[in-house]
Amino acid sequence: MALAEFDLIQRYFAIHQPVRSTTRLGIGDDCALLELPLDQQLAITADTMVEGVHFFPDVSPHALGHKLLAVNLSDLAAMGAEPVAVTLALTLPTIDHEWLSAFSTGFMELANQFQVDLIGGDTTQGPLTLTVQAMGVLPKGTALLRSGAKVGDGIFVSGPLGDGGLGLKIRQGFLIESGHAALAALERPWPQVELGLELRKIATACIDISDGLIQDLGHILNKSGVGASLFWEQIPFSKAVSDYCEQTGDWQMPLSAGDDYQLCFTVSESNRDKIPSGCVCIGQIVSLPGLSLFKEGDLVHLQAKGYEHFS
Ligand SMILES: [Mg+2]
Repeated sequence: MALAEFDLIQRYFAIHQPVRSTTRLGIGDDCALLELPLDQQLAITADTMVEGVHFFPDVSPHALGHKLLAVNLSDLAAMGAEPVAVTLALTLPTIDHEWLSAFSTGFMELANQFQVDLIGGDTTQGPLTLTVQAMGVLPKGTALLRSGAKVGDGIFVSGPLGDGGLGLKIRQGFLIESGHAALAALERPWPQVELGLELRKIATACIDISDGLIQDLGHILNKSGVGASLFWEQIPFSKAVSDYCEQTGDWQMPLSAGDDYQLCFTVSESNRDKIPSGCVCIGQIVSLPGLSLFKEGDLVHLQAKGYEHFS
């Protein structure tokens, strides 16, 4: 079955005239064409989601379309790039029109929210696998890298941690009151695009938390050649996540679970007064390598684990 003959991308993804000035040619030729002003750079990222590895087979296709784009926009946000265009590659076991309609709606609603042009795509038959390549622009030399953290910088997160991880626990059968927000965090994360743009002039390093704070902050520490001290009492958690930690004693879950899509960034002392509202200081960059967590005043050994897929 040749899926391409159905021209699914054209049919379902409400292709309209590109809205971005960078898009010179969208879907319809062998390639799309992008054009950048001389003083701009292109930031490019790609993410693949595989059924049974990255999402449950019974997940809402609308939420899946949203999340596939959101996780890619989150990577652009982490660089301080403004999203302008995406390509989409779909591998589908069958053509399920109801599924495609809901999936494309979830995807395009978020694309429209950020005025991102869908400039290309491909469809093939096979086990359900979804890939997005996202492109963003930023002024030359302003990208937020993982390598810029300096001793003395404060470490910040853009919002509460662990809701995505708790959402996964709930999906796996854990029972907790008012877990709706955690499920929404897992299935419909919101990319911190505007914050990423704001941080270009403020942060020394930045990453999005897709694989858990410990692992992702670890990337900043490795690339910057520094260490970190974190203070448990300063790390923001939702009530549901706090309740989970209390009920189970599994207090490391919100630090090691994936799917938060908050930004973690570092800021020098001189820029502390420019921290956008809602962001919370959770620790400090230090010269001693590694990650030290202080909980109730004690240094706690962290069993650092990254994101574990549910399968
Ligand atoms: Mg990332």
